[in-house]
Amino acid sequence: MQDLPGELSDIVAVMVGVSVEGPYSYRVPAGLSVVRGSIVAVPLVGRSTLGVVWGAPADNFAHNRLKDVERVFDVPPLSEELLRTVDWVSRYTLSPPGLVLRSVLRSSEALEPERAVTAFRATGLEPEKLTRSREKVLDLLMDGEAWAKAALVGASGVSASVIEGLERSGAIERLEVPPPPIVLRPDPDAAPPTLSAEQQAALDQIRSLEVDRFGVALLDGVTGGGKTEVFFEAVADTLRAGRQALILLPEIALSNTFLTRFARRFGTRPGEWHSDMTPVQRARTWRGVADGTIRAVVGARSALFLPFHELGMIVLDEEHDGAFKQSDGVNYHARDMAVVRARFAGARVILSSATPSVESRNNANQGRYKHVLLTSRFAEAALPDISPIDMREEPPDKGQWIAPRLAREVFATLDRGEQALLFLNRRGYAPLTLCKSCGHQYQCPDCSAWLVEHRFRGVLMCHHCGHEQRTPKSCSACGADDSLIAIGPGIERVAEEAAARFPGARMVILSSDMGSHTQLKQRFAEIETGEYDLIIGTQLVAKGHHFEKLSLVGVLDADLGLDRGDPRAAERTFQILTQVTGRAGRASRAGKAFLQTYHPTHPVIQAMIRGDREAFYAHELAAREAGGLPPFGRLAALIISANEHDPAFEFARRLLSAAPMAEGLKLFGPADAPIAMIRGRHRVRLLAQSGKDFDLSGYVRFWLDNGPKATGNLRVQVDIDPQSFM
Ligand SMILES: [Zn+2]
Ligand SMILES: [Zn+2]
Repeated sequence: MQDLPGELSDIVAVMVGVSVEGPYSYRVPAGLSVVRGSIVAVPLVGRSTLGVVWGAPADNFAHNRLKDVERVFDVPPLSEELLRTVDWVSRYTLSPPGLVLRSVLRSSEALEPERAVTAFRATGLEPEKLTRSREKVLDLLMDGEAWAKAALVGASGVSASVIEGLERSGAIERLEVPPPPIVLRPDPDAAPPTLSAEQQAALDQIRSLEVDRFGVALLDGVTGGGKTEVFFEAVADTLRAGRQALILLPEIALSNTFLTRFARRFGTRPGEWHSDMTPVQRARTWRGVADGTIRAVVGARSALFLPFHELGMIVLDEEHDGAFKQSDGVNYHARDMAVVRARFAGARVILSSATPSVESRNNANQGRYKHVLLTSRFAEAALPDISPIDMREEPPDKGQWIAPRLAREVFATLDRGEQALLFLNRRGYAPLTLCKSCGHQYQCPDCSAWLVEHRFRGVLMCHHCGHEQRTPKSCSACGADDSLIAIGPGIERVAEEAAARFPGARMVILSSDMGSHTQLKQRFAEIETGEYDLIIGTQLVAKGHHFEKLSLVGVLDADLGLDRGDPRAAERTFQILTQVTGRAGRASRAGKAFLQTYHPTHPVIQAMIRGDREAFYAHELAAREAGGLPPFGRLAALIISANEHDPAFEFARRLLSAAPMAEGLKLFGPADAPIAMIRGRHRVRLLAQSGKDFDLSGYVRFWLDNGPKATGNLRVQVDIDPQSFM
């Protein structure tokens, strides 16, 4: 298929936004004209479907059965770089291109012209009768401008009928005007900050990447080091150069603080793109990005597929965050795909993190990314002093989870009028419930996972599928009364212990299931103003909140997640421990952190205690290299699922035996996935591992195209570069 610039002939290939493998041919009827990237409506199996003109058809002979393009939408055609990104993502993730295209065509409302707004303007004629109310309206319209009806009502305080009366009298006339823009143009010179010498040096390094060419910088700096100010200045450069900027964030819903910061720097809020928006906001933002009126967008990962035409910069803040990986539909990682899109767009990328992913650190070490370091904290605040508590030597009393030494530190902190945080990355009351009479263990009916007790809500809940049931009074297996016991701690259980041990402390529990986003935001604000002494939290508290008075962090289970058979376990543990201990002493006071651990000699725990992040990266990179794991090798996971276990396993075995031989390629499995059943589907896993220069996506596609086909309720899901091994 050719990529013809400019106008195409009367038969074109159209990629439709459904799960198909390639474009279909359509005829362009007289009177319509299209170019590559034009967004069109075409008939597909009897219904009108959105699609994008992909180019000339593969076979150019005119046959009569071709259907006509129904409509060409009056929006700018998609940019060449976006079309190439769609193709690339499709090939890399093994997702049908039409499915990837759906991430672009997210808002069909955006394709329709925006509805005009009713406005009024003075005609200069005097009305016959001039009341006080009419006078108010005419006074406002003295400026000669057209006023939107709603604005006129609001400013004058009169009713709509007064305005309509004036219109009938001929004193004012009605106009239809375009609606005001959804956001104003950001001003790169609105409020430039005063940067520290180190921040300025970091910015200078980023500026050594040319503003109109592809380049990637890893902005690698401690929490509180002022990374945001630095990348805002790079965004300002991009805006000055007449190009658009995109800032991607994990968990956008909790980032109102960030949007306000943006507004303070640039004089107006950015365009926003996240799941909390109304369809109308979505449509207007999409259109504003496409027609270039929106110059900067702050959004969640799917903003990567917005129809920019002048994209000059993509920033990923917290680039290591797992939220950038999408794992349903198209399995893509927004960090990697951002680099791909930026390459096609000739744009710069800034990856920002206090704990960069091992992949990005390796790219920086190899010189592929510019490594920009910010090592000192603002206001001379020291990094916290981190100590281990060896749980084999100083264990908590039976039935408790807080070791005596940590408890003493909490008391001392509270006595000084400062805040303490107890961290456990596990929601609920207890991860396992069993009956002490018969030993029955409560398990999800649809998943191979224990039900987690949530005592506040009185339920047992599955964290994989959301199944929940009331916590029974008597054992559902043997009928014994009050025989259920909780095994192990969750955050609610720690809170129960803390309430008993630190009476009088004002305590708050922070976990994603403890309220709506609005309620959680409120809790964070209350902590900042010092309304609580003791914070009990999950990883929700680890992310980007400034707590001025917090000087002690206790991690109750630093080993959680370390000993799973997951190649990324050490990295994730290092990242979360760094983030959560970084909460201590962010302002002017030095903080302390304690890690309760059974493995004080583990490299991750050692790196934490010594404050030696370089040691962690060095150790982890060496371990990955020795194992041929990413970024030194490639992985692809195939999850074969079915309603029954044996057919899934049997199919996986057949698939494995059909795998083509290739040099340096290793295949593992079939094996039951670590979570062998989710939502009633049995899951069997195959894993392919290759060297880093091997086209693993291409290999897996060839394998699946030529291997046995999944039929009936069998399904094969491919995850290239899996982040989770569940
Ligand atoms: Zn029982
Ligand atoms: Zn479940």
